[in-house]
Amino acid sequence: MNILLTGGTGYIGSHTAVVLSQAGHEVVLLDNFCNSSPSVLERLEKILGKALPCIEADVRETDVVEKVLREYKIDAVIHFAGLKAVSESVANPVLYYANNVQGSISLLQAMQEVDVKTLVFSSSATVYGEPQYLPYDEDHPTKPMNPYGQSKLQVEEILRDLAASDSKWRITSLRYFNPVGAHESGLIGEEPNGIPNNLMPYVVKVASGELPHLNIFGDDYETLDGTGERDYIHVMDLAEGHMAALHFQNVNAGSNVVNLGTGKSSGVLEIVKAFENITGKVIPLQFAPRRAGDLPIYFAQTGLAKEQLHWVAKRNLIEMCESSWKFQELQGHVKGESEN
Ligand code: NAD
Ligand code: UDP
Repeated sequence: MNILLTGGTGYIGSHTAVVLSQAGHEVVLLDNFCNSSPSVLERLEKILGKALPCIEADVRETDVVEKVLREYKIDAVIHFAGLKAVSESVANPVLYYANNVQGSISLLQAMQEVDVKTLVFSSSATVYGEPQYLPYDEDHPTKPMNPYGQSKLQVEEILRDLAASDSKWRITSLRYFNPVGAHESGLIGEEPNGIPNNLMPYVVKVASGELPHLNIFGDDYETLDGTGERDYIHVMDLAEGHMAALHFQNVNAGSNVVNLGTGKSSGVLEIVKAFENITGKVIPLQFAPRRAGDLPIYFAQTGLAKEQLHWVAKRNLIEMCESSWKFQELQGHVKGESEN
């Protein structure tokens, strides 16, 4: 298949590009590089042994997207392009609706025009909001707690209406849990700008000495060790989940929503311990107040992904930590070399 990945040079998009390309698909990337670097393209070329075409454009440039769909004879689109920082979405909701919702509408307009009607959409477990029960299954009520989550839910709803309007559409919204880790080569991984908000990239930077200590946001939750628990999923498992969704869509029209998680949750201290064991580094810790808006614990019901997509997450916490560290080490090495 010829597959367009919007936001394809980002964290999840780049790993998915590897999985799809190595499975024999023709992959085309489109990105405006607002949260990624063109150097990802060179690193993808090293992994794949060939360059992937990449168009520098904003997904809201409908005409450009339309042209790309025609020119590369695209069969299916995976729509990763979006902004994802929860606190930024609270501070600047218009930015988030403009990018995430308007961006998706622009893409859909282009797809409709060219009659490309197969889409996988990057949604998030954050659409569920306060758990009424756990694990979250796909029928759990949705009540996002911030504009970022709301923007994801709005796109899901547009996609549902679209599929109801025309039986040719094949759409899967994948609700990701907490993606972490990196490709085994250490060449691509998560590269947040500035000080990371998320746990794993923060731990990595403490281990490498770039940050002095990890703040643990809350130690009095009703969880095993009192810290917040999340369903961490290896980014390569997640990437494989996208290919599974495309395979499912090959034989099933309509729209559906599927969780991608492991079904297990881990506390902050468990992550720190695993990371220390693997790296041999000590992660200095400080306990800090709970972070505003944080939920104590959530994790995925994974039955639907298994049943429909024939997909389960295979990689464990150790592999998540090891690959994150390898990516960091290689980045440090590369930085060190270029500075000399
Ligand atoms: P990322 O920021 O690394 O990748 C997103 C990519 O999209 C970036 O390369 C960015 O430059 C590009 N982009 C953003 N807006 C664009 C636009 N208007 N036009 C063209 N390109 C644009 O993020 P990621 O972690 O790879 O996430 C990919 C998708 O998955 C996002 O939609 C995100 O909301 C969603 N998601 C991510 C997580 C997570 O924890 N990483 C969890 C749930 C859902
Ligand atoms: N966390 C923490 N210190 C940090 C970053 C995160 O203690 O510097 C905790 C956070 O409170 C949550 C868990 O780690 O319980 C995962 O946080 P992350 O931001 O990675 O994911 P999210 O909360 O968005 O699911």
